[in-house]
Amino acid sequence: MHTLTLAHLYPAEMSVYGDRGNVIALRQRCVWRGIELQIVPVNPGDQVAWGTMDLAFFGGGQDSGQALIARDLLERQGVGLRNAIEDDLVLLAICGGYQLLGHYFLTHAGERLPGLGVLDIHTVGGKQRMIGNSVVEAQLAAQTVHLVGFENHSGRTFHGSGVRSLGRVLVGSGDNGEDRVGGAVYRNVYGCYLHGSLLPKNPQLTDHLICLALQRRYGPHAQLAPLETNLELQAQQAMLQRLL
Ligand code: GLN
Repeated sequence: MHTLTLAHLYPAEMSVYGDRGNVIALRQRCVWRGIELQIVPVNPGDQVAWGTMDLAFFGGGQDSGQALIARDLLERQGVGLRNAIEDDLVLLAICGGYQLLGHYFLTHAGERLPGLGVLDIHTVGGKQRMIGNSVVEAQLAAQTVHLVGFENHSGRTFHGSGVRSLGRVLVGSGDNGEDRVGGAVYRNVYGCYLHGSLLPKNPQLTDHLICLALQRRYGPHAQLAPLETNLELQAQQAMLQRLL
């Protein structure tokens, strides 16, 4: 039986709009395939053996929640987490977590929160929040997928040349409300603004992340067993029909 381990970054401070549903979806789609997914919560002050991790999840949070953990992220987890990312750790980050993987987040109140700097992005808070349903057309391996989600952020995220975008925003504001960029990808790190939760209703992305982690741990021949996914795809389709 295959086993994978997931680090859930700061679940108490960084889990808005049901983001922890992403961890549940990852675990359930593993369980259905006979893969055990161990979940390790990472709280401020914890030492983490990043070399043993296969996946990580970093959810969204209020500016105040981000301020509580930004220093721990940088100073305690920084070196280990950065090394793991360079070693292709699979990481999904949503909204506030996504912002803190960039160079910095300047909040609308003027507080500058330094980020991990693994994504070549920076974020500047504005007065107006970007709120609503969203659709991002993303390329996952060879597959085009319309990711559906919900966004609520004041931060506007801008990309540098060292990162590629996850996809194109078809509905909603996306990273900054200006250039239709929706999310970023670096190695096996995926970041975007889509709450929802994202993974339960976008099973293509859930399986993409599990597959990356499985092959990183067990080799390129490790395959994901196919799963019946009708209900999840119906949920995704219902939102696409409503929004597009
Ligand atoms: N506090 C950040 C912002 O408003 C992130 C919000 C979130 O994670 N939903 O931009």
